[in-house]
Amino acid sequence: MSKLLNKYSKEYYELDSPTVSDIEYDRLFKELVELENKYPEFKLSDSPTNKVGAVSEKKFAQHKHKMRLYSLDNTYSYQDLENWYDRLQKTYSLDTPPELVCELKIDGLAISLNYENSTFVLGATRGDGVVGENITKNLKTIKAIPDKIPENIASLEVRGEVFMPVDVFEKLNEVQKQNNAKVFANPRNAAAGSLRQLDAEITRKRGLSMFAYYGRIDSGEVSIKSHSEMLEFLKEQGFNVNPNYAVCKNIGEAVNYCKIWDEKRKKLDYATDGVVIKINSFALQNEMGYTARAPRWATAYKFPPEEMSTIVENIEVNVGRSGAITPVAVLKPVFISGSTVQRATLHNFDEIKRLNINIGDRVLIKKAAEIIPKVICVTEHANKSQKPFSPPELCPSCGTKLVPAEGEVNLYCPNSRCCPDQIKAKIEYWASKDCMDIDGIGGNIVSQLVETGLVKTPADLYGLTIDDLKKLNLIADKSAQNLYNVIQASKRPTLARFINSLGIKHVGKEMSELLANKFLTLQALKSASYSEILTIDGCGEKIAASILDFFSDSYNNDILGALEKYGVVAQNVDDNRVSQIFAGMTFVITGTLSDTRDKFSALIKANGGKTSSSVSKNTSYVLAGDNPGSKYDKALALGVKIINENEFKQMIGN
Ligand code: NAD
Repeated sequence: MSKLLNKYSKEYYELDSPTVSDIEYDRLFKELVELENKYPEFKLSDSPTNKVGAVSEKKFAQHKHKMRLYSLDNTYSYQDLENWYDRLQKTYSLDTPPELVCELKIDGLAISLNYENSTFVLGATRGDGVVGENITKNLKTIKAIPDKIPENIASLEVRGEVFMPVDVFEKLNEVQKQNNAKVFANPRNAAAGSLRQLDAEITRKRGLSMFAYYGRIDSGEVSIKSHSEMLEFLKEQGFNVNPNYAVCKNIGEAVNYCKIWDEKRKKLDYATDGVVIKINSFALQNEMGYTARAPRWATAYKFPPEEMSTIVENIEVNVGRSGAITPVAVLKPVFISGSTVQRATLHNFDEIKRLNINIGDRVLIKKAAEIIPKVICVTEHANKSQKPFSPPELCPSCGTKLVPAEGEVNLYCPNSRCCPDQIKAKIEYWASKDCMDIDGIGGNIVSQLVETGLVKTPADLYGLTIDDLKKLNLIADKSAQNLYNVIQASKRPTLARFINSLGIKHVGKEMSELLANKFLTLQALKSASYSEILTIDGCGEKIAASILDFFSDSYNNDILGALEKYGVVAQNVDDNRVSQIFAGMTFVITGTLSDTRDKFSALIKANGGKTSSSVSKNTSYVLAGDNPGSKYDKALALGVKIINENEFKQMIGN
């Protein structure tokens, strides 16, 4: 078991390519600790239970840390946290419950920064805790690491976690994919891979950041007595300290913090895999000291994992609303982040080749917040001599011969008018929340409507009578009358929703809003020229061509005509536009506001502005709520104006 864990550690720390999930690693680790306690005579000298991380590679100069860096003990259970706290109180005969500091456990790469005479002189990875890699040049490219600090200090060590914000990670993987380069499994691996580049210029371009969570003043005048004081001091010195830490009076409050953040973390734009709970007083920390691997005065609570391993029981092929054929892995059910996952997208047949995946293989699955589960990698092939999974030749829904699309990796079913699966997907999309928002028209009802021949196009929905709907096999709370009412009530969508519902290739929610704001009426959009469409910021040739294609197709025009006949008419934009005060401005929203981000986004757009998901020098304002993420820091760094909710409301005169 020691050997296996050491192999996993090498893959994780040195190759940045783990082949098992953290929870599996931690389960094996715990088992090994129990075995070693029971049979100490069999404990190997290089057991992972005695080690921190992995020995550093020879890629960079080695750096011996002044003071050892440690790992952290961890648990996935609140009960274990309470036991840890009770044990400390008993062992150190503490009369009053010791104060704690709870911090988010940032899922990145530990680093140590050394300042001499207030100047950053050397930075290194943790390595095995004793010796790390000297990566000073690379760390100097990270804006969150100050070169100089204001306080006059002879020697200071700061430790923290270098991480890659989630949006930066997603963009990096897109680029890596386009360049046929290595795609990273998660932001932690991407951060580690980006930081340990021999060419520091590559690191500079990777958009890394850092949170500082530890400071030690070796010599200097400043006297700091607790961890929370140290965090405040680090903040004053210009370090990026995670704003979400909390001082807790006892373990009850700490457990509460863990519960709150298990939910709230999903809105953060950096990855966190848990909470680190530390004794606040430095005097107590010194008394408690360290084991061979970790401090006694701190422990980590790990959030339920977002990655799990399971078996591929089958590979099915789905037909989407555009006719695109998508392979889907049917999985042995596995519980991840609060729900059971049974299917994961494999995107296309190139991805199947890239993953080298087949039926029976063991795979690692990831479920990010509100994102369809995804296969990260194969960890064990069921049968190495098995023939690679080959794409079908015929559409699994209608039997039409599949065709490759020009310039795309997908295969398509060209039978867009009669293929039952394509029709079902189009109707489901039409009724979905971001489109016509027809509550109650989902998978099962749509299947019945299409299979009974009642509905072939979205327009047919509006011709359904209560008697037609009574023929369906409905569940109790969805009466035919209710369904009829919701369908009829959806006849006056905003123009943006209506455009989005049409399912024009390459035109999603954001682009629909831009088109609606530019052309104001459906008629104007229908008669827009190629060059007029291209004047929209963010609209390229592919999108413009696709819009023209859509409106020149007689079948689509028949459907639009039928919709109009049924009284399904989009509201012109002028009918509901509030003002133009934000015309030409771009907003980025971060943190928690008093209402959903969608609501604020709608207000911005209703006043003529645009929203974007990332901060750049072209951003006009960052609207920041509570606990803003790294977008806030980026806005500060770029000098972008930051406003709070009240200021925003004043701007719109409310
Ligand atoms: P760790 O990541 O569990 O915890 C220690 C680290 O937490 C510290 O070194 C520090 O870098 C980091 N950290 C983040 N935020 C912090 C904060 N606010 N305060 C203090 N520290 C903070 O420990 P580790 O030794 O880096 O790694 C061990 C873990 O890595 C295992 O428990 C396992 O989950 C994972 N691992 C997985 C594999 C795999 O194959 N999947 C292999 C080896 C290790």
